[in-house]
Amino acid sequence: MAKKRILSGMRPTGKLHIGHYVGALENWVNLQDDYQSYHLIADYHVLTTDLNTDDIYQNTIEMLIDWLAAGLNPEKSPMFRQSKIKEHAELNLIFGMLISVNRLERNPTLKDQVRDLHIENIIYGHLGYPVLQAADILIYKGNYVPVGEDQVPHIEISREIARRFNNQYGEVFPEPEPLLTNFARLSGLDGNAKMSKSLGNTILLSDDPETVKAKMKKAVTDPNKVRKGDPGNPDICLVFSYHKKFNPEEVPEIDEGCRSGELGCVDCKMRCSDKISAFLSPIIEKRKYFEEHIPEVLDILHLGEMRAKEIASATMAEVREKMKIG
Ligand code: SF4
Repeated sequence: MAKKRILSGMRPTGKLHIGHYVGALENWVNLQDDYQSYHLIADYHVLTTDLNTDDIYQNTIEMLIDWLAAGLNPEKSPMFRQSKIKEHAELNLIFGMLISVNRLERNPTLKDQVRDLHIENIIYGHLGYPVLQAADILIYKGNYVPVGEDQVPHIEISREIARRFNNQYGEVFPEPEPLLTNFARLSGLDGNAKMSKSLGNTILLSDDPETVKAKMKKAVTDPNKVRKGDPGNPDICLVFSYHKKFNPEEVPEIDEGCRSGELGCVDCKMRCSDKISAFLSPIIEKRKYFEEHIPEVLDILHLGEMRAKEIASATMAEVREKMKIG
């Protein structure tokens, strides 16, 4: 039986951080054996919140290198730029006719973004973000989309659009389903629920051990544990949440040492830094290889784009035929 198809993507914002890995990339790597995985570099989506494209090419390459270094296999998982496959834009235009402005305005993810990014005037493209996302998924007839809970409303819009198209013109698209597997969030070093480069609270996948240590020194802990000897509460400590992810075997001992006061925060942070660096070490090594072999990285991208283009063209031919246009 043919494997089901997954479509997932990220905006190219440059080098990735451990939050990207834990929240998405690790999952993608684990899923690539069981599904046909297509990975989109969402460079049009960047424009919804940032019109400056000066760094977009370099950011694309940096992100692609991180994807490869983290273990995405280009043989199994084609990686491609959204802007290189013109069919995304064409299907986006058609899908824009199949959904009302009211429906898009009710999208809770949009409301969250407007609040978090302090957006006063929403641009048309931002309102239509889920429509382009539907085109991104459905042009490849994606069956599943690995997402976090916050993205589920977008997938619901994709399902509605697929249904509407199929009812109006005949069956072309599957109704994609969210794949909510193993998604975890890592908070930023400052305790902010979101790890983000713009907030300056990240550990990058490419950070060397000294940089990781320097960043971890500033990480927030239980504020009531001021010095070694003070009992702490690991349940409210950010560093402890990192231990759980990167140092699970020592968690019981750290929990006990923190509560008894025997373990000081400085030691605890350094132990955590070492574990994070040990985890990052093979990624950094692979990253170095790809940094030194950029033509190989570009070949991977071009090959991925050829494979994506083939499927997207076939889907659009089917769409045009059903619609009796073009
Ligand atoms: S000892 Fe470790 S777990 Fe406890 S508060 Fe300090 S950094 Fe956090």
